[in-house]
Amino acid sequence: MTATTLAVEKTKLATPPLRVEVLGSKVLRQPAKRVTQINQELRDLAVQMLQTMYSREGIGLAAPQVGISKQVIVVDTEPDNPATPPLILVNPVVESQSQELVNGEEGCLSIPGVFLPVKRPAQVTVTYKDEWGKLQRRQFTDLLARVVLHEMDHLQGVMFVDRVENTLALARELSKHRFSLADVRRVR
Ligand SMILES: [Zn+2]
Repeated sequence: MTATTLAVEKTKLATPPLRVEVLGSKVLRQPAKRVTQINQELRDLAVQMLQTMYSREGIGLAAPQVGISKQVIVVDTEPDNPATPPLILVNPVVESQSQELVNGEEGCLSIPGVFLPVKRPAQVTVTYKDEWGKLQRRQFTDLLARVVLHEMDHLQGVMFVDRVENTLALARELSKHRFSLADVRRVR
């Protein structure tokens, strides 16, 4: 672990600190505001988001999902590995992404139970501020690229179901888990 990593135990809490909003909630559809001050309050939010994510067995979480319309996302594709620190991205911006799209199954803590394939770039380069306000530029591939792009979508008010191409499967999955197709906003 590096000195700049926030100490968060990767454990499931009986009572996660934050409530997760579900599809149909307004805040999930609002574009999130840029963070202007990276301070202890923001780091506390990131810790609570991580605790909530680990408790709910997610691998990514965006602030709008916990009702906070700010450009903050947390990601950890290795929640069972205590040695790998989670990622905290503040004000992330896509610098470039691969033309190549790959299909992969996605789920979302805000649409529990629903898992469907979505096409995403295989690789993405993102600039962002870390939890200490330091500018970072990183290239992500495969699952990490997918999760980062999924979480960044949340900051624009976009949900993964908006990108699902198979409408029939989408309608079936949503109704099975008591969500409404009327809450989906197709992006293509
Ligand atoms: Zn999500």
